[in-house]
Amino acid sequence: MPASTPYSRFQDTLSAVLKELDLADGENDLFAEPQKTHKKDITITRDDGSKESYHAFRVQFNNARGPYKGGIRYHAEADEEEVKALAALMAIKTAVVGIPFGGAKGGVQVNPKELTKRELQAVSREYVRAFKDHLGPDIDCPAPDVNTTPTIMAWMRDEYEQLTNSYSPAMITGKPMSFGGSVGRDTATARGGFFILQELVSRDALDPDELKVVIQGFGNAGAHMAHFLHNAGYTVVGISDSQGGVYAEEGLDPVRIEKYKHKTGSVTGEYCEGSVCDIERMKLDNVRKVTNEELLTLPCDVLIPAALDNVITKENAKEIKARYVLELANGPTTPEADAILEKRDIMVIPDVLANAGGVTVSYFEWSQGRSGEQWTAEQVDERLRRVMLDAFTAVRRKARRQNMSFRHAAFAVGIERMLDAMRVRGWL
Ligand code: GLU
Repeated sequence: MPASTPYSRFQDTLSAVLKELDLADGENDLFAEPQKTHKKDITITRDDGSKESYHAFRVQFNNARGPYKGGIRYHAEADEEEVKALAALMAIKTAVVGIPFGGAKGGVQVNPKELTKRELQAVSREYVRAFKDHLGPDIDCPAPDVNTTPTIMAWMRDEYEQLTNSYSPAMITGKPMSFGGSVGRDTATARGGFFILQELVSRDALDPDELKVVIQGFGNAGAHMAHFLHNAGYTVVGISDSQGGVYAEEGLDPVRIEKYKHKTGSVTGEYCEGSVCDIERMKLDNVRKVTNEELLTLPCDVLIPAALDNVITKENAKEIKARYVLELANGPTTPEADAILEKRDIMVIPDVLANAGGVTVSYFEWSQGRSGEQWTAEQVDERLRRVMLDAFTAVRRKARRQNMSFRHAAFAVGIERMLDAMRVRGWL
């Protein structure tokens, strides 16, 4: 059997769901491939004067429901297959939360940690130069994703405005507050997932004070989630970043972890310098160092993958001890792992629902950019809560009625909404 790719994994889930829906002839084919795939090599001058080129992509999966929307990631392994799968997930995600966008994704195959700030700016501006004809507030509106930041969004907006001689704050979202950003966008992915988890927990009559949580990833989504959960009474027992993690049965303090992450660059920084750890102090605090692999199978009630894709696989799905898996990352669970978790009665809240808070507040930012309004933190929080809970209700109802997993139900809700728009447009 050929090895699976991110896109083949997306297609596996998609075809399973399409089979369960009542579709007319030819409707399946509308989801087979992205509408457009743009690729270019972008070249910058490094600080030492040498030239370097990087593969860059923008995949526009579907715009039946509105302008293409989705982040841009900078990652050494970002390739066309991955970006294609993520673009498709964005199209489903925007439909699940019912915001007026399609789905797209961008990527640059670069390790940004190896670039200076000036080089990073050059890559970001070149990206916009490469794809400017395909971007714009009514065409395709990018945003941050893995390793891209508000500052990068600001450079991109500025480059676009220079190239098009326009004022276009709504051409990109996730901008800094000082340059057209929306209050609440930085915490939105975590906040949206938090609202969903709170809803689940209260429906299942559970008490957050008695629930243990493990979070893989301490970037934007993972770190904010740790704070929200800790403040709401959950016990965060495990946290990791790309260099490894820490586990404490009695609970970790995300504020302390964040402080050390800031100081040392790693969540294990309070106890370890590289591979050398202060064992005595760890014993005193009842903390253990764990690998990212181990972290996923720690005893807990809620497991939150908040880093990269493809981490819950058929190999470790049998060992997962959580009762809920809340996917703040995109594509963290393979279809084989999904089937195992379902059999084991572990509830997976899929990425297209769980992490849709980010793109939802992007929509709020886009709206504010177009109208010139500025919403308050309370307005953003309340509207986000409403959108997330409406989406949750639609997915839960579908799952119940058609006896589907939450992932299949979310895909079904998204696909049906996309089809409605495609039928109106006469694309069939
Ligand atoms: N990168 C985020 C996601 O995967 C946000 C996309 C957006 O705001 O457009 O959902």
